[in-house]
Amino acid sequence: MARPWERLRRGLLLVVVLAFACGVTRPAAAAGEPVVVATIHPLTAIARELAGNWIDGHTLLPPGASPHTFEPRPGQMRTLAGASLIIAVGQGLDDWALQLARSAQRADVLLVGDEVAAAGLGIDFSGDEEHHHGEPAEDPHRHGGAIDPHVWLDPVLVRDVIAPAIARRLAAVLPGREAEIEANLRAFQEELSRLDADIARLLSFPGSKAFISYHSAWRYFARRYGLEEVATVAGFPGREPSARWVADVVRTAREHGVTVIFAEPQLSPKAAETIAREIGGRVLMMDPIGGPGLAGRERYSDLLRYNAGMLADALAAAR
Ligand SMILES: [Zn+2]
Repeated sequence: MARPWERLRRGLLLVVVLAFACGVTRPAAAAGEPVVVATIHPLTAIARELAGNWIDGHTLLPPGASPHTFEPRPGQMRTLAGASLIIAVGQGLDDWALQLARSAQRADVLLVGDEVAAAGLGIDFSGDEEHHHGEPAEDPHRHGGAIDPHVWLDPVLVRDVIAPAIARRLAAVLPGREAEIEANLRAFQEELSRLDADIARLLSFPGSKAFISYHSAWRYFARRYGLEEVATVAGFPGREPSARWVADVVRTAREHGVTVIFAEPQLSPKAAETIAREIGGRVLMMDPIGGPGLAGRERYSDLLRYNAGMLADALAAAR
């Protein structure tokens, strides 16, 4: 027998389908700006940089939720049904949205993870076994995805692949705005070049570059800036790690002289706190998602600056 939310979701999908079948008008900004829906805040933030004044932008993932543990709700399905463009990561991260996106038949769907994979710039999971420290089969990102889906956390990938792909799709739903979107893209790309240079400078000091993240979200960032993610607190985001996993992370932290363990606002900090206590270190926050109204974590480049600052603090503490 299906779990209650499964039944609920099926029922709501039916409602969406029936709404189309009965010719009900599209909800939310039927007149005016096209509705652009992204699964996670950073993708909405990038779309706003490129066409902020001309779109009705929405994020499916509510503030404080993790894309790894999220289950969609009725209001979000209504938003999707009115969308002209849906922007998702793909690669197994936000399958919950892709199932729903199929009901929004009028929408163009862009998967930025697929764009990165097609450009040959994805990080392959299979070549990365040693970073998992055991229990690799537990990695939820492996379900369906061929590359690590956390592609938005490398500003150079955003500059060179993700932002241009979003700009092309926005231009398609905003006829007559092509030149303006192109100009916004150029300005945003210049900002990202400055951001990249600033982060590289911030993190370019001698000494250990080993860090322990909460979950394996930072491999693209680490590859870009020469850092080494030596362990993750949660092998499976949303599930408390086993005692054996925790002991393994504690040993790795001691081996590498790591004194800061990262937590994330979207997931429980309990295991990070346990490990930090064991090694006599402390917990700092990294945030792969950010959100509206979060000071310093709303705009894309601010979010990346925030995280680079946290990593710099963690690495400085280990010296
Ligand atoms: Zn993740």
